[in-house]
Amino acid sequence: MKIELIESGYFLADGGAMFGAIPKAAWKRRYPYNDENQCRLTMRCVLVRTGCGRVILIDTGAGNKQLKALSYYKFSELIDLEEALLSKGVTADMVTDVVLSHLHFDHCGYATVKDSPSHSARPAFPNATYWVGETQWNNFIHPTPLEADAYFPENLLPVEESGKLSLVSEDTDLCQEVSLRLYNGHTPGQLAVYMNHPSGTVVFAGDVIPLAASVSAEWISAYDTYPVTSYHEKVRMLEEAVLQNQILIYCHDAYTACSTIKKINNFYKVDKKIALQDGELPQCQ
Ligand SMILES: [Zn+2]
Repeated sequence: MKIELIESGYFLADGGAMFGAIPKAAWKRRYPYNDENQCRLTMRCVLVRTGCGRVILIDTGAGNKQLKALSYYKFSELIDLEEALLSKGVTADMVTDVVLSHLHFDHCGYATVKDSPSHSARPAFPNATYWVGETQWNNFIHPTPLEADAYFPENLLPVEESGKLSLVSEDTDLCQEVSLRLYNGHTPGQLAVYMNHPSGTVVFAGDVIPLAASVSAEWISAYDTYPVTSYHEKVRMLEEAVLQNQILIYCHDAYTACSTIKKINNFYKVDKKIALQDGELPQCQ
């Protein structure tokens, strides 16, 4: 099994929004910010090649279809995801599965592409099954008022029309080495991806725990639509991560990509920061 991280681009998010009710006096010690109080976030995707021949892409970043509508987020260093995959020897046709943690714009923009501005969007990975949480899909079709502006129908409707959308209604094994688990809170039916690497379990935590700084259970983003649920779901993920020494991948942290977790006096903390090198695990820093 080979697990590779792909930084699909960066954007700026308001620090107050990222850390919700946590005062700046506390969060400023854990995450850098600029003079407008904005935090630089990455949009980290993961390419997983399994021993059984699956080529799995986890999340796709913002893509480039809605950059004008989203200019407030000041995107930078956006990559062409297809070219990034090609540089790793993977063509768009070779991708067997696309797992979308959820359907907010920063996670699924490259699920579909336009061949030109006048064309309609088509699935970017024509042979792939696209995996989405069922309740997340329902929320995408009939969004809560707080999330409506984070969803763009053209990012997923062409996938549904192609017959390649597979909705996940319960925790599911994609194959022997990769499983999908449902988490609520940030948004309904988010998927976290558990990868059973020979060196240990690696977890794509999605926006359940977007930053290493969000490891503290009460540090819930103001973007989370059901914050009390977020708290309990995060604790569920962290408890297992501590007990099983799992490696968490933080999808938005521009400075810390992965770490293990420790629990001290009932507080969760980042333990060892991990570097994935050439898809191999782990190199403890
Ligand atoms: Zn996000």
